[in-house]
Amino acid sequence: MSEEGLSPQQKSELEDALATLKKELEQSIEEASEQVKPVSLDNPIGRVTRIDAMQQQKMAEASRSLNRAKLAAVIRAQNSLTSGNYGVCIECEEYIGLQRLKAKPETCLCRDCQEDRERG
Ligand SMILES: [Zn+2]
Repeated sequence: MSEEGLSPQQKSELEDALATLKKELEQSIEEASEQVKPVSLDNPIGRVTRIDAMQQQKMAEASRSLNRAKLAAVIRAQNSLTSGNYGVCIECEEYIGLQRLKAKPETCLCRDCQEDRERG
C-alpha cells in the first residue's frame, strides 16, 4: 500500500464523519423545507413581516440548494468508500490527503484540482 493511502482506521473515521454529515445535512434540508413554504397572502401579517418572511424564505432556499449539493457529494463519497476509490482525486487520480479529507470528507477533488475548478 502506498504511504499516502488511507489506513483502514482512517477510512472508518472518515466513514463516521460522512455518516454524521449526512444526518446533519438531511436535517437542515428538512428544516429549510419548512421555511421555504410559500408565504400566504391571506395571512393577517404586516407588510414588513411579509418582506422579512420572503427574505428568510430566499435564504432558506439558497441554503437548501447548497446543502442538497453537499448531500449529493456525501453520498458519492460514501459510494466511493464502498467501491474502494475514496480519497483519490477524480480529476488527476492523486491522493487527496488525510488533512483535507478530515476537513472536508465529502470532497472528491484534491486541492489543486479544486482551485482549478474555482478559477473556472
Ligand atoms: Zn486532483
